[in-house]
This record gives sequence, structure tokens and C-alpha cells, in this order.
Amino acid sequence: MVKLAQRIQKVKPSPTLAIDTKAKAMKAEGIDVVGFGAGEPDFDTPEHIKQAAIDALHAGKTKYTPVGGVNELKDAILAKLKRDNGLTYTRDEILVSCGGKHSLYNIAQVLLEAGDEVIIPAPYWVSYPDQVLLNDAKPVVVETKEENGFKITPQELEKAITSNTKAFVLNSPSNPTGGAYTRSELEAIAEVLVRKNVVCISDEIYEKIVYDGFEFVSIASLNDKIKALTITVNGASKVYSMTGWRMGYAAGPKEIIGAMTKLQGQVTTNINSMTQWAVVAALNQSQDFLKDWVKEFQRRRDYIVKRFNGMPGITCYNPQGAFYVFPNISSYLGKSAGGKKIETDSAFCEYLLEKHLVACVAGSGFGAPGYMRLSYATSMANIEKGLDRIEKALKDFA
Ligand SMILES: *Cc1c(COP(=O)(O)O)cnc(C)c1O
Repeated sequence: MVKLAQRIQKVKPSPTLAIDTKAKAMKAEGIDVVGFGAGEPDFDTPEHIKQAAIDALHAGKTKYTPVGGVNELKDAILAKLKRDNGLTYTRDEILVSCGGKHSLYNIAQVLLEAGDEVIIPAPYWVSYPDQVLLNDAKPVVVETKEENGFKITPQELEKAITSNTKAFVLNSPSNPTGGAYTRSELEAIAEVLVRKNVVCISDEIYEKIVYDGFEFVSIASLNDKIKALTITVNGASKVYSMTGWRMGYAAGPKEIIGAMTKLQGQVTTNINSMTQWAVVAALNQSQDFLKDWVKEFQRRRDYIVKRFNGMPGITCYNPQGAFYVFPNISSYLGKSAGGKKIETDSAFCEYLLEKHLVACVAGSGFGAPGYMRLSYATSMANIEKGLDRIEKALKDFA
């Protein structure tokens, strides 16, 4: 038996992918499962974006590009950051990587070493703690409160900071809760980070998917001091429904982006060349289709939140963004269903899948036991069917 490195033994497989795999396997057997596991929009990539990739292919744009992305793509990102976020950067402050996830990993690799601590508010996106562990540093998980919209308060943040704190991960709007920080909340967070000299890793991948006129703000845009400490991460996956194309980017101080570019040059080089040209089109052409997508997401959110809050013993926070709901199911834990005691959120989700054919992801995978995550990147017909099944399942519990 070959002995694997310690490093890989510290991380676990992504729990969101695990439930999705199980649900897909059941579907393949012909079982009618309603899946709420997916972390990607259910819309197709818009036609003009696909066409730009086809054109690039035909134009022979099939060779290595500069590691950090072609200049046309960097310029489209620079224009976007200025237009949408009020942020001014230069080309050497931008790095394009194979998805936002890869951008985040590059950041972890160039910033972290043994002894460093990274503050991660829970519920968190599943990859944050594991990417920290993979780089020998320590994730410091801070539980947030449902009544605060699952957002960390400046007091909670300050309390978690030690002399070893290197970075803080901000994810607004959040996966899995949909909670999003207002400008004044960000100002208070930024004040603490600047005073304590802590790097802010701002994952803004759901920036465009916000509801009820919510004003999205990039923390780096608040002032020059927080900008000097912030690396903003974004990408094409969620906003343009391009999860399979693999494109993300980071914007931040030249020294950090330069180090990440050097690293990427030794690991993966540039991302797929046709994808780069497709994203140039995505960023530079009309964003109008997004209005329809967001409207449809909001319609689904309104329906699900209302249904859950009408179910006995369940509370469901009304998210400002992203495409997830995160209902609190804790009042059902410790009860029995189907002749078995259901003690944990994982057992609860397993019961829903096995007995009622609905796939949800247990909150403990996101550092929040007692909850579950449902993605509403699925049709209204599926949503209605799935919620009917959950409502029926709850009647089994006594
Ligand atoms: C989907 C997602 C990402 C990035 O996904 P990529 O496909 O790698 O760009 C990053 N952060 C969060 C919170 C996400 O949900």
C-alpha cells in the first residue's frame, strides 16, 4: 500500500457532491427523486456567450495564453469592476483561474503557512476550511446567529482575532444561507479588519443574484485601507450559468496577485483559451437576460420560504441573495420516524431521501448542525413536488 501524504488525509470529500451523487444514482435506477442538491443555475449558458467560444475556436485561439489571462479578458474584468463595484485596478492586479474555487486556493497557497489562523463564519461554503487545512493553517470557525441573518457581527469578528490571525473569509451573498451584508455592516467589519491588519478574502460569486432591490457592495470599495487588505474573488459560473467552463478571477494588491500568478504558472498555466473569449463576450455584452433569471429565482425563493414557514416546527430565514434556502429543522431531531430515532441533520436528510425521495444537504456539512440546504436552481414544478414530499415526511415524526 502506498502511503499518502498527511495533507490529503486532513480533508474530506465535498458533502454537497456526495448527496448529489447519491440522488443521481437513484435517478439512474429509475427512481423519481426530487433533487435540491445542485449548486449551479438551471439555465443554459446564453447563446451569444457560446457563440464567442465557437468563434474563438474557429479563429485558431487554441494555444497557450498568458498565465493570468489574455489582455482583452483582463480589460473586460477591469471595466466590470469599475462599472459594477466602483473598484479601480490595473492588469497586474488581476488573475484569471479555473473557477472561483481555484482563485481561492491560489490565495490560500500564497498567504498561509503553519500557525496561521483564518476566520470563517459558519454556516460556510464547504471548501473554505479544507483549503485552509490543505495549506497547514488553522480554520477558526465562528458560529453566526440565525436572527442576525447568519452574518458575523463586528464584535464576534474581533473576539475571534488573535496574534496568529492572517485572514477573514467574507461570502456575501452567502452559500448556503443567502444572507448578504449591507453597506453599513461591511463598514463595521472593515473597520475591525483594518485596525487589526487582517486580510479580507471576499467571495462575491453571487453578487448579481440579489432580491427585493438589495444593494450589493464590494467591501474593497469602501476605502483605500480596506482595499489594500482585500482580495476580491468572482467568476462566471453563477452569474452566466457557466459552471462547466471553469473561469474565476481574483483582484487585489499587486504583490499578492503576482505571487498567485507565479504559482499558477507552475501548476495549471492559463485557463482554457476558448472560455476566456466567451467570458470577454459575457462581460462586455448586454446583461439584460440576468433580470429574467433573478426574477425567476426570486419567485421560487418567495414560494419556498413561505411554504417552509407554514410547516410546523420549521423556521426558514428569508435570504437576500444566492439561490439557496437554509431552513432550521432542529425541532425534529431526537424524534422518531419510520421506527427509527432521527438524531442528526444528516440522518434527517437521509430519511428524506430514502423514504420520501427528496435530496437536501445536511447543515452540518456547512458547519451548522440542525439545518439543511436546498438549492432552488430547479424548476417550480420540482420545487412544488419536493416541498409536498417534505411536508408529508414531517408527519412521520413523533
Ligand atoms: C460556486 C461557488 C464558488 C465558485 O465556483 P467556481 O465554479 O469554482 O467558480 C465560490 N464560492 C461559492 C460560495 C460558491 O457557491
